[in-house]
Amino acid sequence: MEHLQYLSATNRAEIINTLSTQTFDLLIIGGGITGAGIALDAASRGLKVAMIEMQDFAAGTSSRSTKLIHGGLRYLKQFEFGLVREVGKEREIVYRNAPHLVIPEKMLLPIVKGGSLNKLGASVGIYVYDWLAGVKPKERRKMFSAPDTLNLEGLLNKDILLAGAMYTEYRTDDARLVIEIVKKAAEYGAVQLNYCEAKELTYSNSLVSGAEVTDIQTGKQFNIKALKVVNAAGPWVDEVRELDQSKKGKRLHLTKGVHLVVPFDKLPVKQSLYFDAGAGRMIFAIPRNGVTYLGTTDTTYKGGLENPNVTVGDVKYILDATNAMFPTAKLKPSDVESTWSGLRPLIHEDGKSPSELSRKDEIFISHTNLISIAGGKLTGYRQMARKIVDLVLKQLTTEKGYSKEPCITHKITLSGGQFASPADIKNFIVARSGEAKQIGASPNEVSALVWKYGTNTDEIIEKAYELREADRGLSLTNPNYIGQAEIWYVIHRELALTLGDYFIRRAGMLYFDRPAIAPKLDFVVAQFAKNLGWDAIEEKHQRDYFKEEYEAVLRFDA
Ligand code: FAD
Repeated sequence: MEHLQYLSATNRAEIINTLSTQTFDLLIIGGGITGAGIALDAASRGLKVAMIEMQDFAAGTSSRSTKLIHGGLRYLKQFEFGLVREVGKEREIVYRNAPHLVIPEKMLLPIVKGGSLNKLGASVGIYVYDWLAGVKPKERRKMFSAPDTLNLEGLLNKDILLAGAMYTEYRTDDARLVIEIVKKAAEYGAVQLNYCEAKELTYSNSLVSGAEVTDIQTGKQFNIKALKVVNAAGPWVDEVRELDQSKKGKRLHLTKGVHLVVPFDKLPVKQSLYFDAGAGRMIFAIPRNGVTYLGTTDTTYKGGLENPNVTVGDVKYILDATNAMFPTAKLKPSDVESTWSGLRPLIHEDGKSPSELSRKDEIFISHTNLISIAGGKLTGYRQMARKIVDLVLKQLTTEKGYSKEPCITHKITLSGGQFASPADIKNFIVARSGEAKQIGASPNEVSALVWKYGTNTDEIIEKAYELREADRGLSLTNPNYIGQAEIWYVIHRELALTLGDYFIRRAGMLYFDRPAIAPKLDFVVAQFAKNLGWDAIEEKHQRDYFKEEYEAVLRFDA
């Protein structure tokens, strides 16, 4: 099968056939950033890779983060200098390899009375951070007096403002980043499937040698055989270790982080801010595509893992802190337009509070050689993958005589990132807007596509022309060829299977443009039905399922 077909939702039966009939060098359980990163690294070093994800790719924590590719300023507070240096370097690599998804973002840090930082501390701290993280000269910190800080951001509380510091963060789209990694891994031959759950592990001579899995779509059960098995299940890492009866010693400590989205005009900040929320905690306010999002909380979590709840207390905490910093905003729970809630899969340390726990990743190797990886950040995914694949290759070299190929992912441009330079993206948008005019696509539509799919927008435009050709442009109502082509693309190139796969993780609309979903829903349902052959019963089932996802973001538990 050609690599692209490995990611078509209409080819699931063939993908399952490949997964069930071949023996892989490596089976990865979990399709978040960690699993996807490992799949790309291993496949690009010539290993035969299978990766399975029980929900959609990135549906776990990797679509529920603050969506920043950090330089790691907060680690400075915990004196984790090595981590600051590593993530600083990584940030630059992720930026270079996925320029359409990683965008520099100025971050203003107000220094306030009773806050966790004073002017000197912030100045020295960010200076050290810039130096450790290797920040580019034009992105290094700037310090401001209180009046100058107010000029930058007039909404700040002038009664408590002492000064301001500006530094640079990079924002991303976490779920799309995972999907672009998955697509690149497929190009290197990795066989990857979403909605496929590892139910049991299988063993040969007391060593783990694969998994018994279930295709969630059809209920079909099958086995995947592999020489090595990696558990990259994020918050579920301990559950997979339990399947292996090896959950001993260190264990996960899950902490929940909630984000709230308000319409931009309710909090029209001029740039992103990182501000004191009291008790030593900080919150981000990040403007993005007509909204401002706020977060996050950091509390120990014990409930169900798939959809961690948002409580009235979470909402109050974030809104109170925001209203204290921006007193004219007077945000109320009814202003919240959307939310998301994610779980940090951190390593438990006795006596430490959620925000004190290290964000460092750790690897556990069990007596059966199940290799588990937990902790870490989006930003460090490539290094986590490198460490795992180095380990797997070391074992395979000793046991099977495999050659020790070096990691090359720092040089691999992710799918959709084939721009000459980040500055070239604007030229690309202008050029493609010209091309797409004839199929009725506006420059805004093309621009939105490019910031999601990068250079793969070319294939979407090509498909739109093909669709127009096929009905000879005779459709009487607005055929929206570009919209049809986009849905075709996510189904046939990104394994989208449900409405949420599109609205949440491929297009980010549930979080960042929820009001625009209702007018678009029927069109998107019709396109999914056409491409995936849904009958009326399936269509109703899919609509009901998505309705639940759509409504859940505004349900706040007591
Ligand atoms: P996940 O993304 O959860 O992936 C694990 C996957 O395994 C899941 O999708 C799950 O469905 C699957 N799985 C589990 N069991 C099975 C099974 N039996 N069979 C098949 N599949 C299975 N990092 C940053 O760098 N920048 C940030 O701004 C940032 N902000 C954050 C904010 C919050 C609130 C949180 C919670 C985290 C944040 N992080 C951030 C950290 C980062 O998001 C996580 O470290 C990262 O996403 C974890 O990825 P993962 O792949 O390990 O886990």
